[in-house]
This record gives sequence, structure tokens and C-alpha cells, in this order.
Amino acid sequence: MQVPFLDLKAQYLSIKDEIDSAIQNVIDQTAFVSGKFAKKFEEDFSKAQDVKFTIAVGNGTDAISIALFALGVKQGDEVITVANSFIATTEAISLLGGKPVLVDCEADSYNIDTAQIEAKITEKTKVIIPVHLYGQPANMEEITRIAKKYNLSVMEDSAQGVVAEYKGKKVGNFGDFATFSFYPGKNLGAYGDAGAIVTNNEKLAIKARMYANHGRIAKYDHEFEGVNSRLDGIQGAVLSVKLKYIAEWTERRRTVAKRYNELLADCEHIVLPKEMEYARHVYHLFVIRSKKRDELQSFLNENGIQSGIHYPIALHNLNAYKYLGHKPEDFPNANKFTGEILSLPIFPEMTEEQIQFVAQTIKNFK
Ligand SMILES: *Cc1c(COP(=O)(O)O)cnc(C)c1O
Repeated sequence: MQVPFLDLKAQYLSIKDEIDSAIQNVIDQTAFVSGKFAKKFEEDFSKAQDVKFTIAVGNGTDAISIALFALGVKQGDEVITVANSFIATTEAISLLGGKPVLVDCEADSYNIDTAQIEAKITEKTKVIIPVHLYGQPANMEEITRIAKKYNLSVMEDSAQGVVAEYKGKKVGNFGDFATFSFYPGKNLGAYGDAGAIVTNNEKLAIKARMYANHGRIAKYDHEFEGVNSRLDGIQGAVLSVKLKYIAEWTERRRTVAKRYNELLADCEHIVLPKEMEYARHVYHLFVIRSKKRDELQSFLNENGIQSGIHYPIALHNLNAYKYLGHKPEDFPNANKFTGEILSLPIFPEMTEEQIQFVAQTIKNFK
């Protein structure tokens, strides 16, 4: 049996007629950039996330830097985030001249350790960026409490957390902004690059939308310099079709996770992911830990099972962040877990036979 890490082709085939006609419709109406299909998706996405405003942009990385710009981040400002994210989170900070200030992750949720945030706050701190890593919300009550105390903004990096919930409320309703990625492999994946910013604050929504479109206030009238980061009509149309299935697909992901947890419950050589009591995890990734991770990954590979590592090098250990001057042990959890984490196949179309085969193969590993 072959088990891919995810199966975008199977998903396309399950909704092929709708997708094909949606794409043809965009071409027929030549609404290629922004336009009616992007706008329709913005409305649909606001409903799905229970937020007031969505600004659809070119990708999830742009979404972060545009949101940070709208929050006023500029040269010399410090932005607090977590050491075990994808580089996009910190890149977006640096792009505006800001300095990423890293915090270690918790051992159970893998999200930012809120007990270590306050020690990192200085006069220059402007924003806290929690990342809802692997699809599980960070501890938003603690983060918003700290932000309020020090008068900081909060920007949720929800790239992996479409429709995830914290205490029954959708992510994107806790920070001043939340950003999403619709990179094809994400839970809601476009057929190319795409992203979005959401907020409940109209002033911030207007500023972010202007920045994403050359600082434009009207055609050829620009209040300030911005960037060009807008959603393609084709991506908007594809995303509107796929968004109709997100609840069903998320349920399927949660079922796959539940089956893995049941089948691997007595498997002593691995650590299973923990769903926090405040979270509705959407399992963008199902991440286990093993002391013999590399051997386990090769064993799975030899048995036809693809897996991934998210991420193999913590941010502070990347050459790109040498200038921050950290030692590997500065963030002990993030540092240690990079050698132990393994992302198992998880996707809505995964069959019970595939789930059982992956679990049995892990159990067979010695
Ligand atoms: C994917 C991802 C991004 C970047 O999104 P792109 O659409 O690829 O630019 C940012 N942050 C996190 C945590 C991600 O997983």
C-alpha cells in the first residue's frame, strides 16, 4: 500500500465539475485580479471565520507583513513570536525593518509558551504573533491578557488554522488581525498562491486593504506607498467552491486524528499530539515525536508511507537568524523537538485502511 502525505488530486476529483466550471466562469468574465470572484470569496470567508472583514491577498506571507504594516510596525520595532514556526512569520517582521523576538514553545501544545512572553517585552515591543501551529489555537486568553496589560497589538498567524476554535470561538476573533495562507497544501488550499487577512476593526481593514493595493484610495490616487498583493479571480473562485466543504473536510481530519490516537494509544516509543481543553484542533498536521525519528521516517518510507518534518530547524538555529545571536539551548523545547517531530499523513480523503496501515507500520518499528 502507498500512503501519500496528502492527496490534492483525490480532492480535486471529488469536486471536479464544480471547480472546472468555476474556473471557466472567471475566464468567461475576465475578472482576473481582485474583482467579483475575489470579493465573493472575501464575503464567504468572513462568514466561515465569523469575522467582519476579510482582505484577500496574494499569499500568507504577504498577509502577515500587510497586517503588521497596518498595525504600525516600522524600523526598530520588536515583534514577539515563537521559535518553532515557518520562516514566513519572522520574514514578514524583518521586511518592515522590525526585529523578531523569539519565545520557546510549550511541550504539550507546541504553541508559544505564554509564561515566557512578559520577560521578552521591552519599550520597543509592538506586537505579539501567536502561531496556531499544526492547526491548534495558541492560548489566546493569556496572550490577549498580556497584550492588554502592556498595550500591545496581537496578530494571529492562522496559516495552519482555518476554522480552528479557541473556547468555541473561531480563530481570528482574538487578535487585532489574523492572517491565513491558502497555499495548496494548507487545509483550505487554492490552486496557486493565495492568502487573507481578517479583522473586526474597520479602520485596520481599510488600512490593510490600501497597503495591499499600492496605498490606493481611488484609481491612480495613492495615500502612501504600499505593495501589490491581491487575490486572483481564479483563486477566489476555487476557494469559494472549496470553502463549502471545509466543515466536512475538517471533521474528516479530526476523525483521522482520533483513529491515529486510538490505534497508537499503547505505542510506547512515540509521543502523540495533545489537543488542549480550550482548543478545537483542525489537524493541518498530525505531529508525533520519537527519539528515533530519522530511523522511523526511513522505515515508513521503505513501507510506502510519506511523512514530513515541520520544521527540521528552529528559527533561531537558521543561518538567516544568526544575527539574533542565539545559542541552540536558548529555546530548549523548540531546539529538542526539531530532532523528534514527525508529521504523519493526514488528509480528508484518507481511508481507514490507510490509517490502519500507517499505525501498524509505526507499531512494527523497533
Ligand atoms: C504557510 C505558512 C505561512 C506562509 O504562507 P504562504 O501562503 O506560503 O506565504 C506563514 N505562516 C505559517 C505558520 C505557515 O504555515
